[in-house]
Amino acid sequence: MINIVLFGPPGAGKGTQAKMLSEKYGFNHISTGDVIRGEIQRGTNRGLQVKEIMERGELAPDELVLGIIEEYIKSHSDCAGNIFDGFPRTSNQAKEFDVILERNRQTIDVMLALEVPDEELVKRLKLRAEVSGRPDDADENVINNRIEVYKKQTAVVADYYEAQSKYIPVKGTGTIEEVFASLCKAIDGVIARKA
Ligand code: ADP
Repeated sequence: MINIVLFGPPGAGKGTQAKMLSEKYGFNHISTGDVIRGEIQRGTNRGLQVKEIMERGELAPDELVLGIIEEYIKSHSDCAGNIFDGFPRTSNQAKEFDVILERNRQTIDVMLALEVPDEELVKRLKLRAEVSGRPDDADENVINNRIEVYKKQTAVVADYYEAQSKYIPVKGTGTIEEVFASLCKAIDGVIARKA
């Protein structure tokens, strides 16, 4: 079993790549953003708690996201691998994630970090707004806020995995296929090391 944190700023392409990777390798994929959007749509307690936070482009409370992750880990203990997309997003989430994983006798193998310049992110998110229907894509102020939040609260999560020698940066520009090829190369390396 291989556990991958797919990391990068909003608009880096995590969702697109996670889907392609899970198909190729037979991994499961969880996007905390997708789970939260689902809860908002269904009008659950969790959803009601975070709707406005998400629409401002800020982060949901750690406890809420950690609850989602713990439920996921418990129900996906027997599989080829997992891709965590959009999680962990704060230092505290990263630390607590390790506690949850340990409790379930698991560990993270690698963080693959997609690197994309800010101008390109804004361009991609504005384009995505036309098809995603996401309120947090539709407003340029919210897009800029999400990139700020990433820099202030999320970017440090890379240091956490670097300190464990699990951090691999990957160029996130170029075609979708080029980025995919780079990610596959990194994953194949991890699989070979584990074999
Ligand atoms: P993107 O990274 O492209 O902005 P996501 O779907 O990953 O899109 O996240 C959308 C929003 O969901 C975030 O701005 C945040 O409000 C919430 N969210 C998702 N994952 C987390 C997380 N791990 N911690 C806190 N909030 C989260």
